[in-house]
Amino acid sequence: MDPRPLLFYCEAQLDEMLECLRRAVEIESPSYSRPGVNKAAAFFARELRQLGGKVAVHRHARSGSAVIAEFRGAGRRLKPILLLGHYDTVWECGTLARMPFCIQKGRAYGPGILDMKSGLVCGLWALRALRALEITPRSPVRFFLNPDEEVGSAAFRSQILAEARRARACLVLEPAAAGGALKTSRKGVGEFRIAVQGRSAHAGIDPMSGVNAISELVRQVLRIEKFARPKTGLTINVGVIEGGTRPNVVPESASARLDVRIPRLSDGERIERNLRGLKPFLRGAKLQVSGGINRPPMERRAAEGLFRQARELALQLGFHLHEASTGGGSDGNFTAALGVPTLDGLGGVGGGAHALNEHIVIRELPRRAALLAALLAAI
Ligand SMILES: [Zn+2]
Repeated sequence: MDPRPLLFYCEAQLDEMLECLRRAVEIESPSYSRPGVNKAAAFFARELRQLGGKVAVHRHARSGSAVIAEFRGAGRRLKPILLLGHYDTVWECGTLARMPFCIQKGRAYGPGILDMKSGLVCGLWALRALRALEITPRSPVRFFLNPDEEVGSAAFRSQILAEARRARACLVLEPAAAGGALKTSRKGVGEFRIAVQGRSAHAGIDPMSGVNAISELVRQVLRIEKFARPKTGLTINVGVIEGGTRPNVVPESASARLDVRIPRLSDGERIERNLRGLKPFLRGAKLQVSGGINRPPMERRAAEGLFRQARELALQLGFHLHEASTGGGSDGNFTAALGVPTLDGLGGVGGGAHALNEHIVIRELPRRAALLAALLAAI
């Protein structure tokens, strides 16, 4: 199949794509705002219904709703392709007032525009292009829109895993890496908390009867940092530290929270073992370690075959596609860890994700949508 008509169609639709993107960005949907996330859910559910999808909205007691849309494939027996995206953002309600949607010098700006409302719009237009050109993908397509990816995907984790298990492949609409590269490997992510229990005492009258929890914690932090292997990509960031009450009190408690990034699953096992095996330095101090690896790494072999296919299709569409690895996690980490072929970074191209200058490059939009459509048709 020649994929170029898909590109011509998407290019002719650029104004409509941008208008849809503006409307999506202007629905503020931070992960913790149920009304906001649900408004975004309703918006995308409506768009997907208009494209002929069988759409279901799944409510959740503690988060916004997820949307699942199913589109028919030509080969009824084939397992579906899972398209994965999220409509929650890291931007609080009210951000639009100081960071409105705007277009400047070929770029479009706004909260959540790159991560990842532009990816969702690419998903919509890939499906729209296939429909307009009367191309039925070989496999059925299931489009899963997650409401809480930015806070760890707790609410619908088991559904995402179940969808992935019965899929042939998973295409993730997270933003591209620099220069439009697809993401073929991602580090895994863990979060841990180390709590120290000491004993309080008067710092002047009876300091020796106390056990200084801060002093214990500081020693532990120095030891924990030695578990990192930055050269192989295993990094540890002690990001939060708390403890103590007053300068004249020997502190009874202190705690630290750490972020761990792991290139391989075995690194995660080792870090967990090391952390849980920590022993106190000070006599009388007690340690408690909680947390764990929250997203397994997305190892490259899960993406290899799909990336080759995507690169080939991109060439036919007239551009070179590169691959990249990233330290950031996504829902692709879960699907790849199940052994499901997973390709990530198929969404918008731009910069400033989670930053004030978040933007996309407008002329890339039709290309990404066309590439995605071609992949859906070909896999
Ligand atoms: Zn994202």
